[in-house]
Amino acid sequence: SPSIDVRNEPVRGYAPGSPERDSLRAALAAMAGDRIELPLVIGGKPVTTGRLEAAISPHDHAHVLADAHLAGADEVGQAIAAAKAAWHDWSRTPWEARARIFLKAADLVSGPWRDRLNAATMLGQSKTAPQAEIDSAAELADYFRFNVSFMLRIYGEQPLSSEGVWNRLDYRPLEGFIYAITPFNFTAIAGNLPAAPALMGNVVVWKPSATAKYSAHFVMALLREAGLPDGVINLIYGDAAATSAQILADPELAGIHFTGSTGVFDAILRDVAGRKYRNYPRIVGETGGKNFTLAHPSADIAALATAIIRGGYEYQGQKCSATSRVYAPRSLWPALRDRLVADIETIRVGDVADFTNFMGAVIDEKSWHKQAAAREAAERSASETLIAGGVPDMRVGYFVPPTLIETSDPASRFMTEEFFGPIVTAFVYEDDAFEAMLDTIDKGSAYGLTGSIFARDAGAIATALDRLRHTAGNVYVNDKSAGAVVGQQPFGGARASGTNDKAGSMWNLARWISPRTIKENF
Ligand code: GLU
Repeated sequence: SPSIDVRNEPVRGYAPGSPERDSLRAALAAMAGDRIELPLVIGGKPVTTGRLEAAISPHDHAHVLADAHLAGADEVGQAIAAAKAAWHDWSRTPWEARARIFLKAADLVSGPWRDRLNAATMLGQSKTAPQAEIDSAAELADYFRFNVSFMLRIYGEQPLSSEGVWNRLDYRPLEGFIYAITPFNFTAIAGNLPAAPALMGNVVVWKPSATAKYSAHFVMALLREAGLPDGVINLIYGDAAATSAQILADPELAGIHFTGSTGVFDAILRDVAGRKYRNYPRIVGETGGKNFTLAHPSADIAALATAIIRGGYEYQGQKCSATSRVYAPRSLWPALRDRLVADIETIRVGDVADFTNFMGAVIDEKSWHKQAAAREAAERSASETLIAGGVPDMRVGYFVPPTLIETSDPASRFMTEEFFGPIVTAFVYEDDAFEAMLDTIDKGSAYGLTGSIFARDAGAIATALDRLRHTAGNVYVNDKSAGAVVGQQPFGGARASGTNDKAGSMWNLARWISPRTIKENF
C-alpha cells in the first residue's frame, strides 16, 4: 500500500541580524499598518455582512488589526448548505487529489505564507516570534504533512482475503458535515481541526475563536491558494452560542472537532444528547487542564526550574498543556524557589514585536480580570503566599506578569482550578511523602491532560508512571508539561480534558471515517 515519508518542519531561530528575522519584521510592520476586512468564506466566496467586529492586538488593545464580518442566522445557514453542496464531489475525490492540496498547503506555510502566518499570530494573539514559529507555522505544516501519512496508514489497514473471496474496507468519509470549533491559543490547532476531517474527505463548517479571527483569515486564504475546492471548508465568524445552537440543530451534523473550554464542551454534549441526527455524530474534544510538575528529591534542579518557567509562562500560560501545579520536595524547595524567583525577575513582558520580550499579553480583558482576581485572592488568602509576580496592568495591553504562588493546602483552588494564564502554584511536600503525593496528584484535579515528572531515580520514575497511569494523557519525564510535537508526541487527555483522540496521530484521523466492509466472492 502507498505510504509517504514526512519530516517535521525545521524551526527557524530568528537570531538577531538574521535575514529570517528581517523578513518577519517586515511582515509585522506591513500588517500592523494595514487595517483589513475579514469576510466570511462560504462556498469559496467571500461574504460580507456589514455587521462588524474588530480584531485587536492584546498587547496594544487600541490597535485594530481588522474588522470581521459577523455571520447571522442566514449566513450560518448558507455555510451549512455550502458544505452539504460540496459533499457529493469531495467525498468521492480520490485521496491523491485531497493529499496534493494539503501537501501544497504545507509548502505554502513553510515558504511564502510563513511570515504572514507568524505575524498574524503575533499581532492578533500576542504570541512571541519563537512561540508563533513553533505553534503556528511549523506545527501547521506538520499537521498538514503528517495527516497525509496517517491517512495512508489507515487506508493500508485491510482485512484478510482468501481464494475466491476479496474482503476490503472502504474508508468512507462521514455522511454529513463536520463542525470545527477552534481555539485562540494555537493557530496550528485552529487550522488542523477543519483540515484533518477535510483531508479524509469530509466537508466542514469552521468557527474560529472570536479572539483569533485574524489568523484564521490567513489560514483559510492559504488553503484556498493550495486548491481547496469551494465549500469543503466554510469559515464563519459570529456569536458562538447562537452559531453552535443553529449548527447542532441540523440533522446532518456528522461530527464535531473541538478544542476549547471544558464548560463549552459539556454544553455541546448536552445539546447533542437531546437531538436525533441521521448519524450519531463523532465528537472529538480537547478541553482544559491543570497540569502538574512533580519533582522527586533526586531531581536535577536546573532542568526542573527551566521546565517550570517554560511550561508555566511561555505564551502567558495559555496552552492547555501549561504547567500550573508543582509538587516540590522540602529538600529542594529553597534552591528551586530561589532559581524560579531569579528567573522570573529576568522575564520581560510586553509587545511581542520587541523580540527581547519573553511574554506578551493575555488574550483579552476577561482573561486579564480572571488573572488579576486570582493574584489578589492569593495575596489575601491565609494558605497562599505570593512568591513572585508584579501587579497586572491593562492600560495599554492585557499584561499579567509571571506569577508564582506557594500554597500550604494541596486541595486549594490554586491546585485544582484552571486559570489559563501565567500563574503557577507550588505545594511543598516532606521528602518521605513522595508516594503519598502520587495519590494527591491523581485525585487533586478533575482534568487529565498533561504532567511532568522530574527524577534521576529510575525507581521513582517507574512508580510515578504506574500510579499516575490515568492522571495525564501526555506525560513528560524530565521535561516540561507542554510542547508536544506532531508525529512525535500524540497529544490529548481524558477525564475532564477531553476525548483523548490524540491530535497529531492516526487515531485522530481515524475518527473522520466511517468504514464500509465489502465482501466479494469471485
Ligand atoms: N499541543 C500543545 C502542547 O503540547 C498544547 C495544545 C493546547 O494547548 O491545546 O503544548
